[in-house]
Amino acid sequence: MSPIAAITTTPLGLRCLAPLCESSPEGLPRNGERNVKHRKAARTIQLWISPGLQHEAANLNLSYCVYDTSLSAFLQAHWRKYEGFVFCLASGAVVRLIAPLLTDKTVDPAIVVVDQARKVAISLCGGHQGGGDRLTLQVGQLLEAQPILTGAANGLELPAIDTLGKPFGWKQGTGDWLGVSSAVAKQAPIQIIQEAGTDLWQKHLPKSHIFQFGFPEFKDRNDFPSPQARIWISPIQRTFSPDAALPKAQWHPRVLWLGIGCERGTDKALIAYAIEKACVENHLAMDAIAGVATLSLKADEVGLLELLQEKNWPLKCFDADSLKKIDVPNPSEIVEQAVQTPSVAEAAALKAAGSSQLCVQKHIVKQPGLTGAVTVAIAQAQTEYTGRHGQLHLIGTGPGSLSQITPAAKAAIINADVVIGYTLYIDLIRPLLRPGQIVEGLPITQERQRAERAIDLARWGLTVAVISSGDCGIYGMAGLVFEQLRATDWNGEVPAVQVFPGVSALQSAAAKVGAPLMHDFCAISLSDLLTPWPVIQNRLRAAAEADFTVALYNPKSKTRTQQIVFARDCFLQHRDPKTPVALARSLYRPDERITLTTLQEMFTHPIDMLTTVIIGNRSSQSHKGWFITPRGYLQDSVEARSQKTNEESL
Ligand code: SAH
Repeated sequence: MSPIAAITTTPLGLRCLAPLCESSPEGLPRNGERNVKHRKAARTIQLWISPGLQHEAANLNLSYCVYDTSLSAFLQAHWRKYEGFVFCLASGAVVRLIAPLLTDKTVDPAIVVVDQARKVAISLCGGHQGGGDRLTLQVGQLLEAQPILTGAANGLELPAIDTLGKPFGWKQGTGDWLGVSSAVAKQAPIQIIQEAGTDLWQKHLPKSHIFQFGFPEFKDRNDFPSPQARIWISPIQRTFSPDAALPKAQWHPRVLWLGIGCERGTDKALIAYAIEKACVENHLAMDAIAGVATLSLKADEVGLLELLQEKNWPLKCFDADSLKKIDVPNPSEIVEQAVQTPSVAEAAALKAAGSSQLCVQKHIVKQPGLTGAVTVAIAQAQTEYTGRHGQLHLIGTGPGSLSQITPAAKAAIINADVVIGYTLYIDLIRPLLRPGQIVEGLPITQERQRAERAIDLARWGLTVAVISSGDCGIYGMAGLVFEQLRATDWNGEVPAVQVFPGVSALQSAAAKVGAPLMHDFCAISLSDLLTPWPVIQNRLRAAAEADFTVALYNPKSKTRTQQIVFARDCFLQHRDPKTPVALARSLYRPDERITLTTLQEMFTHPIDMLTTVIIGNRSSQSHKGWFITPRGYLQDSVEARSQKTNEESL
């Protein structure tokens, strides 16, 4: 199934939507989807056109599907098959088309409308829970159209209240969600009582947010404006009176681990009944259940497995030896005689939750008419189970300005739950970030911490974007993340990794001065922090001798000043002192400075850590302020050249 359908009825609309269809699959990654085979991923956006547009679509080299009914009949048939629809049609027409199909914002798909002039992308419907706002931002970036989001929380730079817990796998519970959302829209104070789950989302709110956390102390009450809505974040199932003046709603982080023991052949219905009974009697939300834990012997218990599949709960199995080490309130000698551990349900619940205290001690449940007997105990984990497969997106953000980031990289940044990178680079891409995203900037020296943090969050289930300037795999974070994954026995698939290339400093520098990299070239970093200096010296000598054009990264810092002198002297031994040299500093940033000089004179200009140095080869020349390395076309006879051209296929 394709998650997104792009639909148009006109040739102009087709041209407008074409870039979306070309940029898949990476252009519009799906959030939280298990996508371990991403390298072979099917297209995630499908273009649907009316029959009259086939010729035009083929001319544009697009893959497409044709709907041969009326558009309204097509939509009716495909409404539930797609997570979102991007229309290039008049918004009025779209409103009329979708009106009969809309049900509820919890189930409606995302609807985005793009105008034919490709000026705007409007999030029309399903903005929050349908993912429409996020899709609109991605479409806006890919089409270079202005995204229009009219949701109230967006204007306030706040995460939408009804999608707040989605990244962490929280389940949206019962309550007056409409009442709470309208209080948010009015910018009224909202009280948050969080009893479980991560508080990461709280740490990334804008300074002037509207939330009040917890209940104020009695003496402080007068200092607080009274809240206009309340949100509980808790494993407890609360029942709110529909007549209450204060609208209330609840999120349930999945923190409860059920320990289950049962007789062989116990009915699925009995296990389900026992679990529901334990939850209801203890005011625990079924939505807060993370999963089930039991003895390894029970790993093939049919009724249990059927129930797990139906509920989409994971199963953790432990052997008797590990369960008998757990201290439990109700050990049993009979159980020990049967399965070599005095406790199954209680011990398994505690072990799965990583806790030392149960919230529900074991109960044995039987029911007339149902086969078997079930024991249930429940323990609460500190960290919620997200139920998601994490993804690591290693992203090159180019040299500086947003215009130099690839559309696929932009879409991946918008899509991420978490963005991690060096603070300066985060600042450079800030306009791409959206409310509710967790953004963690770390100082330049903390690359390892950045990589570890990203891996931890992805292992937990989040989609994490790790950003590096330029290309992420050229003296960037990609290698470090891969090295650390490898060091921790990564299976190559979970978390799933995708690398998004970026324009590296050497390409940016080359573009600014002409075409210095037209022949064989190499990059050498002069930083000896991770590479021994003798190794760097050898590479410099070899590159100089073998007549490579060379791009020097990290040429000089405040304390490391002699490496660049060695490099220059090394090249002088093999090249003319007049060999062109480009000093490109802060490329595509406001303080950009480009200097075209020579080997002989390069030290009469400043060089620092923000500079990339390009040294030409023996045939490089400068011409009227441009740096050109000939490939040799003009040196050959016309005949030889045309033959060569055929061979090399430019
Ligand atoms: N991953 C980056 C390189 C990071 S190493 C890339 O692919 O471009 C850091 C070095 O890159 C700096 O010392 C400098 O030599 C070079 N560099 C990075 N961004 C630059 C920019 N905007 N202008 C000039 N040089 C840059």
